[in-house]
Amino acid sequence: MSRRTILMRLGTALLFLLLLLLGLFGAWQLARSRHFQLFGDLVDRVDTDQKVVALTFDDGPSPGYTQALLKTLAAQGVKASFFLVGSAIEAHPLEAKLIAKAGHQLGNHSYSHQRMVLMSPAAVKEELERTNALIRQAGYQGPIYFRPPYGKKLWVLPWFLARHDILSVTWDLEPDSHPKVAGNSAAIARYVVDHARPGSIILLHVMFGSRQASMAAVPAIIQGLKAKGYRFVTLKELVALRKS
Ligand SMILES: [Zn+2]
Repeated sequence: MSRRTILMRLGTALLFLLLLLLGLFGAWQLARSRHFQLFGDLVDRVDTDQKVVALTFDDGPSPGYTQALLKTLAAQGVKASFFLVGSAIEAHPLEAKLIAKAGHQLGNHSYSHQRMVLMSPAAVKEELERTNALIRQAGYQGPIYFRPPYGKKLWVLPWFLARHDILSVTWDLEPDSHPKVAGNSAAIARYVVDHARPGSIILLHVMFGSRQASMAAVPAIIQGLKAKGYRFVTLKELVALRKS
């Protein structure tokens, strides 16, 4: 092989490698995007002039923590939206029923809470349908939106959601995922009160022992935003305000 041929082959191989890396980077960015997915409808916030926000809680239910949260929300007169994990509903059906009975919105956060980016269509179907059935068994009758575990989706999941007309809901504010804020309830509350805007979707994880700073922040978040003139609505109510 001539030196020129070797160089040309090497150049071609490098170009392919570069394109592959670019493709992988693009797929990774797409999988983690809070604002966009390939198919179907995704909401990360709603464009509205009304001073409304939606409080959303991911994971669970879990005994004790669910009751404590429901008590706080009832005391503040706030309806929220809960993205529950199917296996946790199965383990704690009473807590799921209590959430539904209190008039909150229930959403599907998968059955097993695994990353769903590389899941087969059959596995995605199983994750969604099994959890939807458990949500209905808990007595919830409203629309069931979906929130992907870790916010991750790429190809099969959005395609399945679009085909079944299921709305994907992410968020625009996630205080307890910010290292500087998480772990300190006053900082969490301040972050949300400072950054919320009309139509914001706030994500909190509170139904774990390790997340009690987030739990303790809930009353201050609600009071702080109410003081700024905000109203708390469920996701269904928020989505109804979408302009298009
Ligand atoms: Zn989760």
